[in-house]
Amino acid sequence: MTTLGHCLCKKTSWSFEGEASWSCYCHCDDCRRNCGAPVVAWLGVPLERFTWTGDTPKTFESSKGVWRHFCNTCGSPMGFEAAHYKGGMHVYAASLENPDAFLPTFHVNHKSKLPWLSLDDDLIKYDTTLSKAPTDLGVYE
Ligand SMILES: [Zn+2]
Repeated sequence: MTTLGHCLCKKTSWSFEGEASWSCYCHCDDCRRNCGAPVVAWLGVPLERFTWTGDTPKTFESSKGVWRHFCNTCGSPMGFEAAHYKGGMHVYAASLENPDAFLPTFHVNHKSKLPWLSLDDDLIKYDTTLSKAPTDLGVYE
């Protein structure tokens, strides 16, 4: 199975093979500001199954060891890598070719959720970051 994604102008695109390792919502302030959105939906993919397929994105190191990739033409956020999630690419569910097919399975940084944002789901709500969630969610297989 091949999954495709692209930015607003379609110059930057990606694909990956197989299933995502995990999928979630992140409520942290950095992700919100990076996307200009009240919450960000993510999926994690092992780097060895992930490829940029269009223009090479630009990269901003938003904090030490954290790299946020974005389209060099339209500015759409396109990917996230971090030293503490070695071996994985995090991509935005909203950039999926078919975002309807995405199924988030938990929340992280839920303690930072904006009080006016109302989400009606029964998913697990971790107050920690992904790397500190009480599971092996940071692991890419
Ligand atoms: Zn673009």
